[in-house]
Amino acid sequence: MADKKEVKNRIEKLKELINHHRYLYHVKDQQEISDAALDSLKKELFDLEQEHPEFITSDSPTQRVGGAPLKEFKKVPHKQRMFSLNDAFSKEDMEEWLKRISRLLTEEEKNAVDFYGELKIDGLAIELIYKDGILETGSTRGDGFIGEDITQNLKTVQSIPLQIKTNEKELVVRGEVFISKKEFEQINKAQEKKGLPLYANPRNIAAGSVRQLDPKITAARKLDSFAYDVLLPGIKTHEQKHDLLKELGFKTNPHNQYCKSLEDVFYFYQKVGKLREKLDYEIDGTVVMVNDNALFEKLGTVGKAPRGAVAFKFAQSQATTKVLDVKIQVGRTGAMTPVAVLEPVQVSGITISRATLHNEDEIRRLGLKIGDTVIVGRAGDVIPNVIKVLPELRTGKEKEFVMPKACPSCGTKLEKTDGDIVWRCPNPNCFARQRRSFYHFVSKSAFDIDGLGPKIIDRLLDEGLISDPADLFELKEGDLVGIERFAEKSAENLISSIKEKREIPLAKFIYALGIRNIGEETALDLAHNFGSLEKLRDAKLEDFDAMANIGPIVAESVYEWFSAKDHAKLLDKFLKVGLKIKNPKKQALGKLSGKTFIFTGSLDSIDRNLAKEKVRDLGGKTTESVSAHVDIVVAGHEAGSKLDKAQKLGLKIINEKEFLQLIA
Ligand SMILES: [Zn+2]
Repeated sequence: MADKKEVKNRIEKLKELINHHRYLYHVKDQQEISDAALDSLKKELFDLEQEHPEFITSDSPTQRVGGAPLKEFKKVPHKQRMFSLNDAFSKEDMEEWLKRISRLLTEEEKNAVDFYGELKIDGLAIELIYKDGILETGSTRGDGFIGEDITQNLKTVQSIPLQIKTNEKELVVRGEVFISKKEFEQINKAQEKKGLPLYANPRNIAAGSVRQLDPKITAARKLDSFAYDVLLPGIKTHEQKHDLLKELGFKTNPHNQYCKSLEDVFYFYQKVGKLREKLDYEIDGTVVMVNDNALFEKLGTVGKAPRGAVAFKFAQSQATTKVLDVKIQVGRTGAMTPVAVLEPVQVSGITISRATLHNEDEIRRLGLKIGDTVIVGRAGDVIPNVIKVLPELRTGKEKEFVMPKACPSCGTKLEKTDGDIVWRCPNPNCFARQRRSFYHFVSKSAFDIDGLGPKIIDRLLDEGLISDPADLFELKEGDLVGIERFAEKSAENLISSIKEKREIPLAKFIYALGIRNIGEETALDLAHNFGSLEKLRDAKLEDFDAMANIGPIVAESVYEWFSAKDHAKLLDKFLKVGLKIKNPKKQALGKLSGKTFIFTGSLDSIDRNLAKEKVRDLGGKTTESVSAHVDIVVAGHEAGSKLDKAQKLGLKIINEKEFLQLIA
């Protein structure tokens, strides 16, 4: 998106959509899209604004905090603004964050920067003001400047001390109130019994509970709290603030931890991720703070968030991204499956770049157009799918998807029987339906792609990821997500071994095509005879007939293969996806020029394939069948029937030693 106007337009649309969903959530207590999807939109907006700061406006959701205070509550202005945090979702985001803040630090500060890692509780931020050690006011964050007075409600939370031992005239403490997973379930059970709507998550209940006008309701819901900040000058590190809070009798999270470096932060994040299930309250990630309070202050704030802290969140189970294209894939039964090609995006910690759309009806149900922004997830936590289209973000350039009339693999007219929702290719010889040709294509003597056996080919075809061998070269790691038994590591390995085979000698390529009657030897002969794929494609039947080692049946089957329209299309596609075919070196008039060799028996000092190569390098030819065309027979140990036949034909026979002298 290089065009400035497009960027500005996108930012405007994102702001509008995010504000709409925030309003629903905070004011109407409704939710139309998941937190994860909303976070994903906010992240896109944040990133765009980072790249184009000239488009940041004060009304941007990235510049605002929380929700507006409710009218029913008394307002409490905060002495210092209560910020919220920017999100990070990956190591790269964290490295980017450190890079951004490092630019504002001196060399010395940069080297000394360390962190404090905390658990990010899925609750509601609160502020407590103690006057002469007595809890006087408790409030919500509100819009960051003004919160709601919920003192009476917070006084019902057992872990919030009503009185603390301090000499400070006034002490401001900040923290989080939340509800346990167990309590959440019980409240929802009670709601269900009464026929009332269920709460979406524990945070909703916590927020709803502290904002009750009747403190008795709040008291009935066993809220808990953690303190994480105290506004008191003269404390050197954030870690020491936590120590002080603990001393004062506040509940602090025992899993919080000092981190010396970003490496330590990653380790902490991983540890917390494993802990998540075992905790009796919900967390959605970690909070990482610059530990040195002076540095933290120096870094200042940008918009609604301090630069010195970041919410390093867990992988999200949903994200938003763009549909770049819709492709049709052909299954084993000839079924056509539309697949959305996506701008790569992380979902549950894995990058996905495709999502199945199942069939034409599903595309209609979603109302999906090419170019749309969509919410994607992973069905059953595995198969990437499109959950919802966000038509609000359309620019007018989106394109309607049209189901093709013909099979993209073989060109046959598609059929759909009454009552079926799937279009099918009726051609039983359709490339996409012929699995054996795929197995042959990747086999040892052909493309020899590591880790790509028949089982994986079957899966790729069944998932509709490939419909002809050229598609293999367009696979991306993200495409393999969701394929059963496909670990991330093996996906990476497979993609890189396919990449390695992007360059292939012409002879191997011809062999890989699986043309009837063409073995390795004939493929070599064809490669040397024609020298390039173009010449081979242009060849007439008599050109093949004229070749010494090729009989009329073979000549015809090669000619027929190269004349077929769908094969021509396939060959064009190979070139389009970037396959490089290496032409054989022009045969110099070597000293074996014009001579045809045959090998029989085993050789001691040279591999047979290498020996054949030497012969070809020197201008000679090799063959597998004994005939009068053979000039020299190389006989190794235990030579068999070929030797007998050669003797009968009176051919010239030499041993290994003589052969070595010949090629020396
Ligand atoms: Zn077909």
